[in-house]
Amino acid sequence: MTDFSSKKALILGGSRGIGAAIVRRFAGDGAQVAFTYAGSHDAAQALAADTGSTAIQSDAADRQQVIDVVAAQGALDILVVNAGALVLGDALSLDADAVDRMIDINVRAPYHAAVEAARQMRDGGRIIVIGSVNADRMPFEGGAAYALTKSALQGMARGLARDFGARGITVNIIQPGPTNTDMNPADGPMASLMHGFMAIKRHATGEEIAGLAAYLAGPEAGIITGAMHTIDGGFGA
Ligand code: NDP
Repeated sequence: MTDFSSKKALILGGSRGIGAAIVRRFAGDGAQVAFTYAGSHDAAQALAADTGSTAIQSDAADRQQVIDVVAAQGALDILVVNAGALVLGDALSLDADAVDRMIDINVRAPYHAAVEAARQMRDGGRIIVIGSVNADRMPFEGGAAYALTKSALQGMARGLARDFGARGITVNIIQPGPTNTDMNPADGPMASLMHGFMAIKRHATGEEIAGLAAYLAGPEAGIITGAMHTIDGGFGA
């Protein structure tokens, strides 16, 4: 448990999966939480009612919507950019529009959200983006475009950490390995292939990822910035 009372947090992409676990953790630890979603209206409303948080429909693929939803929150203490898309397949036949939409959601949205948040963020604020261990290791075919989006976040975090460091604002990337969500179910078709790359051969839970997010957003992590935090059961080891 981290004491987030009096902290104001925005989670981009919070209706399901890892994002929903982060909403639950931060709200449970006392933060005033708002989160965005795109399509999962019922799940978002149920989560909001359950946690006392606020659900906002906002498409992370639309730059202006990203900027507007962040700006409307005013002075945040914590921004978490979790919304992500996964497009896998043969690079020669993948739909180019789907790849570009993934780049919009996974790369452009985190950048514009982080910059917009920093305009009003209180000193000592926290910016956390959910990347992937695939930024460091892409051990199977068909993942080039996804890996490119997640490795782009590494350079962003290093640079923005320097841009905002004078104000004590930290910028960090969490790099999960396989995590049990709709995107990557623990009983899905790729599960045993993925477990083969891991030292601890199971999917993580969203709660385990949320625990790391809470640590990075909490009072003990004020000196941690510009860094990648891999939580992957040894997938990248
Ligand atoms: P899910 O697909 O289970 O959930 C994705 C969440 O992001 C949903 O709440 C969804 O909302 C939201 N979202 C997706 N697209 C948009 C959009 N355009 N605008 C707003 N919100 C959006 O994914 P995970 O929880 O598994 O993944 C979360 C993050 O973790 C992603 O960045 C992913 O790349 C990363 N990750 C996941 C891993 C895994 O194994 N699961 C491993 C490594 C990284 P809605 O349903 O309302 O559209």
